[in-house]
Amino acid sequence: MSTIEVIEPATEQVMTEVPRAGIEEVDAAVARAKAAFPAWRAVSPGDRAGLLLDLSAAVEDCHETLAQLEARNAGKPIGDARGEIEMVAETFRYYAGAPERLLGRTIPVAGGVDMTFREPLGVVGLIVPWNFPLTIASWKVAPALAAGNCVVLKPAELTPLTALELEVLALDAGLPEGVLNVVAGPGSVCGRRLVEHPDVAKIAFTGSTEVGRGIAAGATATIKRVTLELGGKSANVVFADADVEAAAAAAPSAVFGNAGQDCCARSRILVERGAVDDFLAALQPAVEEIAVGDPLDEATQMGPLISADQRETVASYVPEDAPVAIRGRAPEGPGYWFPPTVLAPVANSDRAAVEEIFGPVVCVIPFDDEEEAVRLANETIYGLSGSVWTRDGARALRVARAVETGVISINSNTSVRVSTPFGGFKQSGVGRELGPDALDHYTEVKNVYYATEGS
Ligand code: NDP
Repeated sequence: MSTIEVIEPATEQVMTEVPRAGIEEVDAAVARAKAAFPAWRAVSPGDRAGLLLDLSAAVEDCHETLAQLEARNAGKPIGDARGEIEMVAETFRYYAGAPERLLGRTIPVAGGVDMTFREPLGVVGLIVPWNFPLTIASWKVAPALAAGNCVVLKPAELTPLTALELEVLALDAGLPEGVLNVVAGPGSVCGRRLVEHPDVAKIAFTGSTEVGRGIAAGATATIKRVTLELGGKSANVVFADADVEAAAAAAPSAVFGNAGQDCCARSRILVERGAVDDFLAALQPAVEEIAVGDPLDEATQMGPLISADQRETVASYVPEDAPVAIRGRAPEGPGYWFPPTVLAPVANSDRAAVEEIFGPVVCVIPFDDEEEAVRLANETIYGLSGSVWTRDGARALRVARAVETGVISINSNTSVRVSTPFGGFKQSGVGRELGPDALDHYTEVKNVYYATEGS
């Protein structure tokens, strides 16, 4: 078998090599998962809950090792990586509550009793990206297992290490062989095979809108269930009546977190015209002070981009004549560095404001009134996340309701909580992850009629 050279983006050095899976390995993983399914779905809800709690504890026991792997391999600050691994453990803990709460209904009908059950789908294929490797994997693996499915997980070829560790931890925690299988190999081979495989009942995917479109199309041949969590171009709407300093202080982490490689990045900051100067004045020191550097340095707030290709793509949005208003620092030398960059003023129709950049570049776009703010926020093919900053509570709720997006926060830049639904409107995706909603996407509703008064 050939190998994948796993690169450390902060040094451009090979960190390790792992076997590269191909079609044969995917087929073998699906076969293992299929064989394990009848016994796994029959495990009692309480025992399945216990195994998920044990897996959560196993993740916690390896917390620092997993965080270091993620920090080095994905180039993310160690503090952020620790937070992500905590969320992984929390996600398994949260869904450990699910097996005993997968409730059905009884429905009044003539002549008998009608009841519904939430049945697992069977083998599910989970395809995840490189930006939050284990976190996004856990958002899919945990509800899938809780609902009684068996899993084949395909991490991104750039960041396979923590997913491979998870497979080992799951076995150590007592999950039966074949319930959680990891195949590390290229998306165009392994991902595609999962999408086409007749024994895979569902694909849950996070990644680019372009690949998501292909997956949706490929899944039609076998009528697979598909959930997609795709790109974003979210708006951070700042009204002049807001605490502008607080909005400016929060704006950098809302877009430069994970070096901007975040589908929730608020990469368009819409600012009411009268507040633009104050906002930029407050934003400038916040951006210039961002500590960009070695992911393993405790003081680092932003690491490198994932790859040379990604850096090239990001750089293409900041040509020589770009309206760079603020530029932060970035190290010289090896590593795929790119400085935090603020473009202002930008028109909502400019390329940098239209396309998902997936890097530390943000556009500041002035607006004149609430109606224009909502129109600009919605003038995008995406609809994943966003924020609105104002002291006017009624306006806050009006705008939050009017923006076509799956998640929006008021006077805050946060998007994701384990217990609340996350997913996109429009071309940002289909379905919801996290919270109780995710379970709907890993179960089928079965309707059973029991005749009590003759047949
Ligand atoms: P991709 O969408 O290509 O990758 C996401 C996952 O899909 C990876 O595991 C990848 O495998 C797999 N994949 C790739 N091609 C196929 C295929 N034909 N069939 C099935 N699975 C496939 O994202 P990239 O890594 O290429 O990033 C490109 C851009 O996508 C970014 O610049 C960003 O704009 C966006 N993106 C958005 C993310 C989000 O969270 N919404 C996450 C990541 C990227 P492998 O990488 O191993 O080939």
